[in-house]
Amino acid sequence: MTSQIRTRFAPSPTGLIHLGNIRSALYPWAFARHKGGAFILRIEDTDTERSTDAAVQTILDSMAWLSLDFDEGPFFQSQRLSRYAQVIADLLDAGLAYRCYMRADELDELRAHQRAQGLTPRYDGRWRPEPGKKLPAPPVGVEPVIRFRNPQEGHVRWQDAVKGPIEFSNRMLDDLVIARPDGTPTYNFCAVVDDMDMRITHVIRGDDHINNTPRQIHILRALGQTPPVYAHLPTVLDASGAKMSKRAGAMSLLQYRDEGYLPEAVLNYLARLGWSHGDAEIFSREQFVAWFDLEHLGQSPAQYDPDKLKWLNHHYIQSADDTRLAEWVQPFLRALGIAPSDLTQGPPLTRVVALLKERAYTLKDLAAEAALFYRTPHLDHAEYARSLTPEVSAALTGLAAALQDIEWTRSAIHRAFTATLERYPLKMPQLAMPVRLLTTGTTRTPSIDAVLELFGRETVLARIRALEPRT
Ligand code: GLU
Repeated sequence: MTSQIRTRFAPSPTGLIHLGNIRSALYPWAFARHKGGAFILRIEDTDTERSTDAAVQTILDSMAWLSLDFDEGPFFQSQRLSRYAQVIADLLDAGLAYRCYMRADELDELRAHQRAQGLTPRYDGRWRPEPGKKLPAPPVGVEPVIRFRNPQEGHVRWQDAVKGPIEFSNRMLDDLVIARPDGTPTYNFCAVVDDMDMRITHVIRGDDHINNTPRQIHILRALGQTPPVYAHLPTVLDASGAKMSKRAGAMSLLQYRDEGYLPEAVLNYLARLGWSHGDAEIFSREQFVAWFDLEHLGQSPAQYDPDKLKWLNHHYIQSADDTRLAEWVQPFLRALGIAPSDLTQGPPLTRVVALLKERAYTLKDLAAEAALFYRTPHLDHAEYARSLTPEVSAALTGLAAALQDIEWTRSAIHRAFTATLERYPLKMPQLAMPVRLLTTGTTRTPSIDAVLELFGRETVLARIRALEPRT
């Protein structure tokens, strides 16, 4: 019987989720989906001072935005405390963990002494039971911590799916505190019990956890488990080359949503931020899942490149279906003050986005340009007056007349322009610019004939004529 692949995302709900964080969800998700396995969400919220409900919600919203669906969970460590207490009791009974009555000040003193001798500070095992060793009587009034009895000799090794073989000497590892004096379990211990209970087969996480892994392996073995496969992902660096972090001002994933990035673009971008499939740069979620493997995870830190993300976003906007694009852009239009009722006053939004999407890098950009079709232009009269020579003015009147009776198509509008230019000594931009200003309030628009076609004859003529010099 082949056992099911089971992966997890185990965030701590202590703030925003940035691109680097969510990548630690994306890869285990993709691996589980690729293998037909299960993906589990576990919220590591035992740090009650730093964990917040808002941060939990941010995790759920971030995953939902990228459609990273989970099969089990969310499990909350804060709701599993009795389970951890039970496992600690079992380890104590089996002699695999012990009570240590060393006070914090004694530990500080020991560490200071070790540092002064140039040694790495480590617990000296004074309360560790050994055959023939006589332990002092527990001091009165000191609540003990529980320490895990780590092997003292030999090595711990694992074949990391990303980094290759990794080995730690057990001499480097002291006896880890697994429960504090108030009985609350510590991070490494909870993670191990959860990985065991949730039958995790592949732990795919950031390489900042590499130093925890030897400790976790020992605890798992003490609990009679075979350790899972570990895949430690190299750090994500921000655009300046520093480790991406909340503190260094990393943007939250949901800000990308709010800035008008498409989830498929962000997913595609993140997929490539530390993993590759030949030289494929643009691929769908389905392709990603079909191709994803641990063998092609990158070994060196991946650097965030905002221009590449924009380029991908542009690609996905450009290739999106116009009806969907029109839906996606509406919240951004609303943010610009364009209400759904305003949309009925202008050209169909699907046609507007179809015209503009080639130029847009984000939905926000797209909305800013689309808005021009649904509001009365704010004409900069001074700018307009500067372009308004007597020839231009006459040509505008001529253009309006030419537009009056033509069939209202882009090519006919174009012909009306060229015919007008034959009659007046002007170049195309000299005529197109004031027309752009009059109809949209800006000089930066796509091809003027396409813009005018969308506005419709009535609006175009009204706007051109509204400012005809009165004689
Ligand atoms: N809670 C840990 C973190 O947010 C993740 C631990 C793990 O993946 O094992 O960094």
